[in-house]
Amino acid sequence: MRKKFCPKCGKETEKFYENLCKDCFLEKFSSLEKIPKNFLFKKCKFCGKIFYKKVGKESLESLVETILSKILEKEKIDSINYRIFNDKLKMEVETKIEDLKKVEELTSNLIIKQFVCNVCNLKEKGYYQAIIQLRCKNEILQKIEEDIKKEVETLNKFDALAFISKIEKEKNGLNFYIGSKKSAMEIGKILKRKYKAELKISRRLVGFEKGKRVYRDTILIKISD
Ligand SMILES: [Zn+2]
Ligand SMILES: [Zn+2]
Repeated sequence: MRKKFCPKCGKETEKFYENLCKDCFLEKFSSLEKIPKNFLFKKCKFCGKIFYKKVGKESLESLVETILSKILEKEKIDSINYRIFNDKLKMEVETKIEDLKKVEELTSNLIIKQFVCNVCNLKEKGYYQAIIQLRCKNEILQKIEEDIKKEVETLNKFDALAFISKIEKEKNGLNFYIGSKKSAMEIGKILKRKYKAELKISRRLVGFEKGKRVYRDTILIKISD
């Protein structure tokens, strides 16, 4: 049998890919330029949430996972094994080309800058969509205040505007300024179920935003016993 050689490297080879040996053929492909050398993150100095472009996550680990899976999908890379090490992201990138597999290594820099996220910015400025007026006996006031704070924390996992921007002391209770109307309403419902509270909702036009009416809700929560 006649021996065949790769025209590029001169190595003896049996199977050719576009007239080249496997190694010379694979050299033409690289997935590395599809992955940024520097990942620029922004971390909120108040809530600790970390952002890459428009995507925000609770931790660097889950954010990196989300970014890489998006890159995989978009760039048709088969898999990325990775490890976060100090401020570096070490990756092993695997790409399938015809019946071959190419594995490449890459280390990118993770650059984290501090900032204040939109939600925390609003909170700092005292933003609110609704006021919860809690009215109850003094003896249970503190307990229910804790309840409300806990519920806000839970709701915040699904609703970024679920935060308390201010608590005001009133003669017969407390006023909570809540960033999200929807979550304020949810808290009202929870207290109604839990304490048989009486709810009274009123709505006030406070202005216009981009041509739409903006209302602010006041939810009066009365607990009798
Ligand atoms: Zn070759
Ligand atoms: Zn924040």
